[in-house]
Amino acid sequence: MSEFINVAGIFGENVFNDSVMKERLPKSVYKKLKQTIEDGSELDPSIADVVAQAMKEWAVDNGATHYTHWFQPMTGVTAEKHNSFISSPDSNGKILMELSGKELIKGEADGSSFPTGGLRATFEARGYTAWDCTSPAFLKKDATGVTLCIPTAFCSYGGDALDKKTPLLRSMEAIDKQATRIFHLFGHTEVKRVVPSVGPEQEYFLVDRAKYLQRKDLVYTGRTLFGAMPPKGQETDDHYYGVIDERIGAFMKELNEELWKLGVTAKTQHNEAAPAQHELAPIYAIANLAADHNQLVMETMRKVSQRHGLACLLHEKPFKGITGSGKHNNWSLSSDTGVNMLDPGVTPHENIQFLLVLACIMKAVDTHADLLRQSAAVPGNDHRLGAHEAPPAIISIFVGDQLEDVINQLCCTGAASHSKASGTVKTGVTTLPDFDQDTTDRNRTSPFAFTTNKFEFRMVGSSDSVSAANVVLNTIVAEAFKEAADTLEQAEDFDMAIHDMIKELFEKHRRIIFNGNGYTEEWVEEAARRGLPNLKCMVDAIPSLVTEKAIKLFTDFGVYTKAELLARAVIEYEAYTKTINVEAKTMLDIAGKQIIPAVIRYTTFMAQSINTIQKACPYADVSVQTDMLMEMSKLLGEMKAAMNELEKNLEMSTHFEDMEQCAHYYYDAIVPAMDHLREPADKLEMLVDKSYWPFPSYGDLIFEV
Ligand code: ADP
Ligand code: MG
Repeated sequence: MSEFINVAGIFGENVFNDSVMKERLPKSVYKKLKQTIEDGSELDPSIADVVAQAMKEWAVDNGATHYTHWFQPMTGVTAEKHNSFISSPDSNGKILMELSGKELIKGEADGSSFPTGGLRATFEARGYTAWDCTSPAFLKKDATGVTLCIPTAFCSYGGDALDKKTPLLRSMEAIDKQATRIFHLFGHTEVKRVVPSVGPEQEYFLVDRAKYLQRKDLVYTGRTLFGAMPPKGQETDDHYYGVIDERIGAFMKELNEELWKLGVTAKTQHNEAAPAQHELAPIYAIANLAADHNQLVMETMRKVSQRHGLACLLHEKPFKGITGSGKHNNWSLSSDTGVNMLDPGVTPHENIQFLLVLACIMKAVDTHADLLRQSAAVPGNDHRLGAHEAPPAIISIFVGDQLEDVINQLCCTGAASHSKASGTVKTGVTTLPDFDQDTTDRNRTSPFAFTTNKFEFRMVGSSDSVSAANVVLNTIVAEAFKEAADTLEQAEDFDMAIHDMIKELFEKHRRIIFNGNGYTEEWVEEAARRGLPNLKCMVDAIPSLVTEKAIKLFTDFGVYTKAELLARAVIEYEAYTKTINVEAKTMLDIAGKQIIPAVIRYTTFMAQSINTIQKACPYADVSVQTDMLMEMSKLLGEMKAAMNELEKNLEMSTHFEDMEQCAHYYYDAIVPAMDHLREPADKLEMLVDKSYWPFPSYGDLIFEV
């Protein structure tokens, strides 16, 4: 039996949230801080000392000994450097617990060890962290004690963004400004602010920790690099929404509690499609907070899994042949007056503001499909996108029947006169209720799907930050809104101008709409006919960041400077080569030190047993054993040859000076060589006695959690 949890009581207990601020800050300071948080107005530095003092007192009252600026460098994980609150001892040897306004607002870090993409030379080591008061400080309680974490942005000595938060905040300002103009065009001048809301659905795998530790590939790379398919995969669909196993349930319970204490609105949990795969979704929040919270979700999953003897795998593709994990990024735009711009209402054909918003989003996605694709590019996602798995690498939009019909009406006749009504679902059982059908069905294969009142961008990888995806979404839509507002604000006949604009945008960008099955080969061909980009892998997607189009977009809206974009491309190429390099070396290590010795032990045993049998019984038929021995020896030879090829290619890769060329070499030569090594090894796993095989199999990992 589980004990009672007072959710309302524990929710946010580790957060310096609004009620704590209200209670602990002088009224005038509280008001000023709230203005920055809620209206996006400039932070008044004169309040820093008072806020720091209150924050420290609250933290110390809750057992904190240390504080840290908590930031998100380009490593893909968060970073923290703890400082205790202690002052130097006075003449009596007594210390005080201190946090100054300066220490709250600005941190100085030796940033040279974080990826910079050449934005500065290594000798220019200084980097700064700057307090982001829009994301509340929180307490982390773990083996190190209690630490006050202050969310911060991270930049170089010269002010270049070196993190994932800064561009996201910049993009939020861009969309705020342009979306507010759209509201004003329609007479909603009471709207002062528009923010992107984001709800990221986090998929993950849980495996037994003891088994995980026996798999050096999981330990070093987060995914399996060898492994034959078990007799059962996910064909029976019995895991999706299946009953949650006790051990997993205990993990989920503790995870929820930890997250609620951190103010993360953990809402939905269920088993996912693949065995050992699960999902957690919070209630959506303002983009910046959602991005920070998602980092906390991933971190807490890792931490809590250890306490339960489990290992949490956040990699996009931990197991070949088994569905990988993503992070569906649900995105919408809400005004401070509580209106969601993406809400079509019951009769979307009459909702002109919505139709304009939809048309602008279609234009944005069609114009910058390459950027959107790039925003989801991490090495692990190469195994999902474009690999016959959800979703395909081609960007298209699913709008559903009702909206497609409205778009068609507008394009064909120049006017939309009706919206298809949704029907009633009749169950055929008198005791069951009939209910209203949704106006759109779901489409699981679309990378960018309209769902009720939001778009769901499904390409983001499970281990990735949601920042990049939302930076792109916010900025490309800001651009489309700006172009629309520039024209419409000048229009003499507004009704006529807007009608013409919507029609024109729909006509021009209709090619991006696809409501069919995105997994099929026909769609790949059809998309090519429509001229839609199909960037199959990360290295092909990276150049999208630095096209003239991208540089103009991001610099126009102050989201990235050209130097920052160029640096980010370098960082991405480096991240790709480093990841594959570690994977390749791990394969060589496992093949050389574990698999080959195990196969040799087993084949030696086999050879000896053939000898023994023949000695004991000269006419016994040992052809099966002999065949197996031959087969295993042949595969062993193939493994050795593949190891040589991989080693040779790795050596070659050290000769590239250009990061882009090097990354392409990894994709073109190292990845195939890794496949060549895996193939005979996986065949050997099917032939060698299980007791000889040096680590747990796929079946052991995913079916015996
Ligand atoms: P699904 O049925 O698609 O798996 P989930 O319930 O798992 O849906 O996740 C949906 C996510 O979308 C949740 O995080 C939810 O809070 C979020 N969401 C709902 N409405 C909006 C909205 N208007 N804007 C952004 N996100 C939203
Ligand atoms: Mg979901």
